[in-house]
Amino acid sequence: MTLRAVVGLGSNLGDRLVILRAAAAELARVVRLEKTSRVYATAPVGSVPQPEFLNAAALVRYRGTPEQLLDALLAIEAKLGRIRREKWGPRLIDLDVLWVEGVTLETARLTLPHPHLRERAFAMVPLLELVPDAADPRTGERYEVPPGAVRAMPERL
Ligand code: AMP
Repeated sequence: MTLRAVVGLGSNLGDRLVILRAAAAELARVVRLEKTSRVYATAPVGSVPQPEFLNAAALVRYRGTPEQLLDALLAIEAKLGRIRREKWGPRLIDLDVLWVEGVTLETARLTLPHPHLRERAFAMVPLLELVPDAADPRTGERYEVPPGAVRAMPERL
């Protein structure tokens, strides 16, 4: 099975751009990395005071199941030394499966599309940059960008 998927990348600790680039390089070792989005600076979600995030997304082709793709992302997070003290707290690197073309899934480990995709501009903006006609696999509805401040950065991944 070959999946066409969009992976979300986020970091708000340390040298965020270096960390995002390292994550993209690791990703390229385990998937076919077709395209990366611009890098966006975004305000953190939730009530924990913390630094601004850098977010981006990658359009990938993956030979395997969605769960195997999740495992690959978790392994990259572990390798890059994710630090996470609290659920909504700062993180060195966060990798999410945002969307897999045509796939809806709800298991204990993985929900597809990502449960917060529709309400997060920092995820939807880079996703639609990569796949402008992306649709919700449940309804077939084209995605739209929700409200939320995201600022495109000059640097690329
Ligand atoms: P968080 O660190 O808050 O992003 O949560 C990570 C956990 O969320 C992972 O260990 C997954 O089991 C679970 N999860 C559920 N759906 C997804 C998804 N679409 N992408 C990434 N993680 C997911």
